[in-house]
Parts: sequence; C-alpha cells; structure tokens
Amino acid sequence: MTPSKPNLSEHWKELLAFDQQHIWHPYAKMPADTPAIGVASTQGSVITLADGTELVDGMSSWWAALHGYNHPKIQQAMHEQIDIMPHIMFGGLTHEPAIELSKRLVKLTPEGLDKVFLVDSGSVAMEVAIKMALQYWVSKDQPNKNRLLTVRNGYHGDTFATMAVCDPVNGMHSLFSEILTQHYFAPEPEMGFDIESDNQDINSLKTMLEEHHNNIAAVTIEPIVQGAGGMRFYRPDYLKQLRQLCDEYGVLLIADEIATGFGRTGKLFACEWAGITPDIMTLGKTLTGGHISLAATLATTDVSDTISSNVGDLNPGLLMHGPTFMGNPLACAAAIANIDVLMNSPWQDNIQRIEEHFTETLLPLKELEGVADARVLGAIGVIELERSDLGPQVQAKGIENGIWLRPFGRLVYTMPAYNISQSNLSKLTSMLTCTLGTVIAK
Ligand SMILES: *Cc1c(COP(=O)(O)O)cnc(C)c1O
Repeated sequence: MTPSKPNLSEHWKELLAFDQQHIWHPYAKMPADTPAIGVASTQGSVITLADGTELVDGMSSWWAALHGYNHPKIQQAMHEQIDIMPHIMFGGLTHEPAIELSKRLVKLTPEGLDKVFLVDSGSVAMEVAIKMALQYWVSKDQPNKNRLLTVRNGYHGDTFATMAVCDPVNGMHSLFSEILTQHYFAPEPEMGFDIESDNQDINSLKTMLEEHHNNIAAVTIEPIVQGAGGMRFYRPDYLKQLRQLCDEYGVLLIADEIATGFGRTGKLFACEWAGITPDIMTLGKTLTGGHISLAATLATTDVSDTISSNVGDLNPGLLMHGPTFMGNPLACAAAIANIDVLMNSPWQDNIQRIEEHFTETLLPLKELEGVADARVLGAIGVIELERSDLGPQVQAKGIENGIWLRPFGRLVYTMPAYNISQSNLSKLTSMLTCTLGTVIAK
C-alpha cells in the first residue's frame, strides 16, 4: 500500500510518488506525510488496491455509492448517454435527461418541492439554496433578512457561504473569521433519535428566532443526521417543531439532504421522519449513486414565484445563478438510472437488514474501554472513540484486516452500500470490531 510494499509494481510506485509530491487530497498537506493508497478498480462493495489487496467498502465513497460501485444499470445509462450527448450548455437549451430526472425529483421529494435547480456539487447546491433564500426576502422588500440561523455541529460544505454555517468550532471559522459572514448559531439538537426530550434545545432556537427573525432569511439544517459535523442523530419531533417555528416567525427552512437523501436513514428523505416539507432542499452525494458528480436544489412554488416577482431597482426577478456544467446530461442520465435502480429495489428491507446487523454487532462496542459511544440509525453505524488521534491507525489496521474505513477525529463510522452481501456485511463489522480491539489495546 505504500511504495515500499513488495506487491506494488514499479509503475504504481512511480505514480504514487508523483501523487504524493503534486496532487492535493482532501484536507491534506503538500507533500503528504504518507502517500495515498492507489486504487486499481472497484466492483460492488469491493475496492481493489494497486497491490491487489481487496477491501470490503465501509464508506460508500462518503455516502454516495448507494448500490455499490460500477452498477451495471447506471453504467449502461452512462454509456448510452455518452454516445448521444455527454454535455450541452443549459442556457436557453434543455434535454431529456434533465427533464426526466427533474420529473422524478419533483415526484419523490416531499410534497410541494416542485422547482429544480441542477448543479455540479453539494456545496454549490447549498450556495444556490442560500442565494434563493436571500433573493426571496429582497423580492419581499425585506433585504435586512440576510442572515442565516443554524445549529452547532452542522456541516454544509467547503465554499465560503457554506463554511459560514458549518460548526464554528470544528469548522474553519477561526481560520477565516475575518471574512466569513456572521450567522446565528443555536445549540445543537440533543443527541438521540428515540429520546424523550425536555425541548431545551428547540426552546433556545426559538428564543434566537424571537429576537432576530427580522434579520434572518432562513434556518439551515441537516434533517435527523448531522453528518461530517459529528455523526449525530436527533429526534424527528425537533424537526417538526422547527418547521412550525419557521412558519411562525416568517423564516424559510433549508433542509440539507445531501448525505441523507435517497434512503440512508430508512426513509427516502430524512424530512419524512417528521412529515415536513422544507421551503428549500438540497441533494448531492447520493444523487448518481456515486458514479459522477451532480447535485440539486429544490424549492417550493412560493419561493420561485417570490424570487421571480416584484422586479425593481434591487431585484432582478431572476435567480442569479448559472454554472457552466449546469444540468450535465451524462450526470443526469446516471442520476435517473440510480433513482430507478433504487425504487425498483427492496431498499427498505436492505436498510433494515443493515440496521439490525449494526445494532447486534456495533452497539455492544460501547462497552469497550476507549469507546465513548456507539450509535446506529438506518444503514449508518458510528463508534465514537475517547481519543481523537487513532483515525490513521484504524484506517491502516482496517486495510490489513480487509476493510476500508476513513475515520475522522474520534469518529469511526460506516455506511455501506444498501445491497452489500450478508457475508461482506459480516466481514465489515467483525473486522471493524477486531481492528478497534487491536488499535485501542495498543
Ligand atoms: C458532503 C456534504 C455537503 C457538501 O457536498 P460536496 O459535494 O462535498 O460539496 C453539504 N452538506 C452535507 C450534509 C454533506 O454531507
């Protein structure tokens, strides 16, 4: 796995040496302290490394690969589309893949989300969502409603507008404090999907809305699961109350379903746990089943009508966004195939199967010395360690044990493909247990 590994060809040694010296990886040094691990190919829930090692994939490439890698139906749709038209500008032109995809999104997402904006990545989908919210209030002659309210421990992306609503402590606020827009942060929702809560969390948020709603355009939140900001689960009732408060105080609700969208929590969209429709919703990661980058921002007709009305000096009456690769047909074709594969699969049964297996195998790890918490929801398993420096060792030991994990901070977590075989699922959890046992005992 490193250039010194005996099974690595000279060709790969040379590639990885170049990589280390010249190519940035996510949140990495240049040159990197340790070289990245070469991947030769993928298939289903198996990743084959450059040295021939096969790993059972515990990460789905950061939530994305819902049905495993190289899904034949998604690949076929992409092959067909690439011969017809891989790309065409979206300004003034349209095409069947964008229309067919948008039909599905309008039909499947919570009732009322009828307008679709197609972009290239999750962060940009959130940028568009924020822009929609700000333009909404300009159109209503309330340009002072130009701040956001969010909760702590959130994650919404790496661009400047989205960084400003990521958790102020584990995000990048101190690094960019001078230039990030100052928003309002309510305490994070209390941990726990099934808990009886005293509602202190939502009451603090209410107090902030009461005080500042004249300056607040929207609340942004990840429904039910806070992902990269801490892998925390919270109760549906919080979301339900939040929807009511947004209505009461005249503030839009932006639900970021980039990680949770398309089934991961056990519902098609996490908002369904609370039976709510947000005013704006973002999708990304999971949209093409991990085959190619695509994201979307959906909005209600109230949002789109308002933005398009009341044209004046301040207000152009147009949504002011239009990326070059908007609505890319190749990505849309992959997304259509992904959604059709999902809807024609027993995905609820699969999620339940994974949830039951994680409950049986991962929750008991709570008792291990060095483990602070273990939690499971849908096809997501999280083990929170007491120490925050063991991630690299867990990753390396995992590879020795034949599984791919990418912990961050204290969090060792896994969200496999929905259709992972029972034997690969068992290998994933038994080797994860074994890996933690060895790393923590050291
Ligand atoms: C990953 C993620 C994003 C950012 O998406 P990118 O495609 O990485 O820009 C935003 N919100 C949530 C909840 C995410 O998980």
